[in-house]
Amino acid sequence: MTEHNKAIVTRFAPSPTGYMHIGNLRTALYAWLLARSGQGRFILRIEDTDQERLVPGAVQVIMDTLRITGLDYDEGPGVDGGHGPYVQSERKEIYREYAEKLVAQGDAYYCFCTPERLQTLHDAAGIGGYDRHCRELSTDEVARRLAAGEPHVIRQKIPLEGETSYYDEVFGQITLANSDMQDQILLKADGFPTYNFAHVVDDHLMGVTHVVRGSEYLTSTPKYALLYDAFGWERPHYVHLPLLMGRGEDGKVSKLSKRHGAVSFQDLLAAGYLPQAVLNYIALLGWCPKDNNQEIFSLDELIASFSIDAISKSPAIFDYDKLNWFNSEYIKALSPAEFAERALPQLKAICPPYVDTAKLAALLHTRVSTLAEIPAMVDFIAARLPFDAALYANKKNKTTPELCAEILTGVRPLLSDAVWQNDALFALLKDYAAASGYKAGAVMWAVRVAVARKAITPGGATELLEVLGREEALERIDQALQELAE
Ligand code: GLU
Repeated sequence: MTEHNKAIVTRFAPSPTGYMHIGNLRTALYAWLLARSGQGRFILRIEDTDQERLVPGAVQVIMDTLRITGLDYDEGPGVDGGHGPYVQSERKEIYREYAEKLVAQGDAYYCFCTPERLQTLHDAAGIGGYDRHCRELSTDEVARRLAAGEPHVIRQKIPLEGETSYYDEVFGQITLANSDMQDQILLKADGFPTYNFAHVVDDHLMGVTHVVRGSEYLTSTPKYALLYDAFGWERPHYVHLPLLMGRGEDGKVSKLSKRHGAVSFQDLLAAGYLPQAVLNYIALLGWCPKDNNQEIFSLDELIASFSIDAISKSPAIFDYDKLNWFNSEYIKALSPAEFAERALPQLKAICPPYVDTAKLAALLHTRVSTLAEIPAMVDFIAARLPFDAALYANKKNKTTPELCAEILTGVRPLLSDAVWQNDALFALLKDYAAASGYKAGAVMWAVRVAVARKAITPGGATELLEVLGREEALERIDQALQELAE
């Protein structure tokens, strides 16, 4: 662990792809937590220098995700902190200036190789290795070709010998032989910088002290470290996060992708997960509290517990069952009104007008693990399911279709003028069971199956009667009696 003697500044620097992969959201969360747990600053920077990959509306997706999850930023688009602009495409001139500075001091060079030449090289070498063809062009030749307007890029001049090391706060010492590194492009022919260059310049200019990002950058970081050194800038602390993996149906573990399930924050919301449940779960994918087994964390609790040295370097496996558990805990923790606010629009859309949707929402509250389960759970309320005689035979309650027909015939007249309210209906059915000698369980079963035509329902017989309302419930019982008689 490194001592932090200056205020921590972290940043989240997504490329606007149009969706927020949960790996990226975890990066944002950890960077945010690191800043918030040290009275630091958190910056949002949009890395959109790959002009071929621009997606309309993508920046909005990023901002919406941060707003919904509560990851507020101190500087970023729309929040000026003196280091803007925070969108890389608006900083084009800055990068050129710094790239030319590197050329002037001998740490970078102009390269005029055509795409065709590079392709031939690629085909011959099998990998995209660049042969440093333009590395030693004479100053005169470079000046002449620039003056002639020849298309060019600027490449980093990686030392040919020696090695470069840096210390990663999670993975420890990382060392790479300089001969294993490419003379990577810093500035492209269209004048835009590459990610490799732009993020280094920006992290420095924005005062970023801790670079938090996915471990896919672990082995390219020595090249970035060399850039810091070339400029004479202090290198930031590096915090690379463990890989996020998914388990396939065959049990095999691989990089988390669509084939494992929803992998973007937006898709998870659409699948009925609550934002804070998702955030809580991903907080624990690669980090765990040091001295307890706490699993449910508010954002404030995460801030209080978070520390870099409790980040693990082992890959984390995204487990959808575990996410379901988190989500059901978060749903249970909602107030009845908060749950209703989320469930009612769905219920109103699928239930006929006679249904007491507020009561139904209350029944569902403790029973769903995601909001997306609701339609399937209430299918029998939205419409009458087909008759199934087998349902009336129940081992536990010792019922048969014949017995259920008897019971329903007996309770039907009592229900006609009952008080239509769960407690009263429950007392009525119990009293009827006691008076008639049927088991209470058998009476409840007969009534529940008659109105639901389904073995598993959210709520028992009398709760369902209440939700369906007198008229619909009695019609269903009459229909059941008819069907049982046939
Ligand atoms: N734009 C890069 C990405 O989305 C950021 C990587 C970094 O944080 O340095 O992967």
